[in-house]
Amino acid sequence: MSTAQSCPIVNEPVPSLPRWGDVELQRLTAMVHQKSLFYWNAPQNAALQEEFRKHYPLKHLFATSSGSAALHVAIASLRLKPGDEVIVSPLTDMGSLIGILFQQGVPVFTDIDPQTFNSDPEGVLRAITPRTRAIMAVHLAGNPCDMSALNTIAREHGLAVVEDCAQSWGARHQGTPVGLLGDISCYSFNDFKHLSCGDGGIVGTNRDDLGNGLSKWGDKCYDRTTSTRDPEDLAANYRMGEPLAAVAAAQLTRLDSIVARRVRNGTRLTKQLGDIPGLHPPRTRSGDTHSYWFYLFRLELSAFRTSREEFAEALRQQGVAANPGYLPMPVYRYKVFRHHNFFGGTWPARDLGATTMDYTKVRCPVAEEILSDCITLPINEAMTDAYIDKVARAVRHVADACRRT
Ligand SMILES: *Cc1c(COP(=O)(O)O)cnc(C)c1O
Repeated sequence: MSTAQSCPIVNEPVPSLPRWGDVELQRLTAMVHQKSLFYWNAPQNAALQEEFRKHYPLKHLFATSSGSAALHVAIASLRLKPGDEVIVSPLTDMGSLIGILFQQGVPVFTDIDPQTFNSDPEGVLRAITPRTRAIMAVHLAGNPCDMSALNTIAREHGLAVVEDCAQSWGARHQGTPVGLLGDISCYSFNDFKHLSCGDGGIVGTNRDDLGNGLSKWGDKCYDRTTSTRDPEDLAANYRMGEPLAAVAAAQLTRLDSIVARRVRNGTRLTKQLGDIPGLHPPRTRSGDTHSYWFYLFRLELSAFRTSREEFAEALRQQGVAANPGYLPMPVYRYKVFRHHNFFGGTWPARDLGATTMDYTKVRCPVAEEILSDCITLPINEAMTDAYIDKVARAVRHVADACRRT
């Protein structure tokens, strides 16, 4: 089948804007004149915290070398025992899981909601055992999790809620920014996220019991407030140096404008795709704000005579930068999980009897179905209303051409 035309509906490349400029340059210039680029009591890390707090007024903060590092620090602050369980979505980045596994914890995957693509609270509730310590809320693509429901479950069962906000800068749940809703939250500045310093992250909490000495969990457990060196726990070095902090601090001054435009673009696209038969845009709960890191929609494959791959190819012929799928498989199907290959081909937590988890037996049917019928589109702050309208027109055109009659 061919929907190719001499002139595709989207007749321009994906728009882009410069991401760094004068603000970053000013901070980097100031930094070059510093005597030290070490993070402790340094001006760029302080500026990063100050800028961050304008959006997320969290009491205790620590900037890290990556979002994965921020999540590892958050998990380390919970002081898991081997075999302790953390409930998490199977549609996420390895960064959500690395810290849990290094702390000898057990990621427990529960299924997601077919419309929001985030953890289904009922599945979370069913997965709770006496070993459960925390729920990790991954706000996928910028769509906030049902934090009201997750927090209620956590309170009733004495669990901590770790928010993975790597994809959700600027997103809000019932008006409150994500990251201010759980017990401890983590963000990423990797190059693909809303904000970038190349690689970096930040972790923050209002809880003193987790936050006092938060930096120790990413600074070899050194206590920089005393002159004696006597670490009492095992911790990695995940510090963010001043060059990256300078860029990250500057990037945060762009957060509101970047997010405003992405919210506008994503909302506009969702409105226009919403009434196309057989096509399901992401559902955002009423009162929530999706900050659209990328755009994922689902196809009701029985409504079309094409495969998902052919549908995406037809979109590409109309100039839409569509990709068939998101992750190639849910995280629990990755080799590292299927082989329980976490430490040199072994998994001490299981081999020594602290857990009976078998990842070859895990199934999350909704997550698997979504990965088999979804299409992802880029969305960014450089796109204009006119560009979004062209994308929407192209999707409608392709859907009409591919629909089973
Ligand atoms: C990007 C990402 C991470 C990890 O961030 P890095 O900075 O790449 O380490 C963690 N969780 C999610 C959901 C992400 O998208």
